[in-house]
Amino acid sequence: MTTIAVAMDHRSYGTIDYVDPGNMMKVYCNCGRIIGLDAAQMNLKLSLRKDLECTYCRNSRISRDIEELNAIFEGTPEEGI
Ligand SMILES: [Zn+2]
Repeated sequence: MTTIAVAMDHRSYGTIDYVDPGNMMKVYCNCGRIIGLDAAQMNLKLSLRKDLECTYCRNSRISRDIEELNAIFEGTPEEGI
């Protein structure tokens, strides 16, 4: 019986069309995409002073950071010779 209750709970929270208006907050990313966050996540991000950005922007920012780090560590081949 417990298993069934858990499964139903999971389904109702897991579907995209289920949005609890009390907890879900919609914010626009700089690129115009909508980010769905619940209030707890949003407060956490704001308290950490993290930018609210969508997955796409986050991924592209991270890959840009990695490229910059690679450039710093690799340097130019002529250097140091
Ligand atoms: Zn974005």
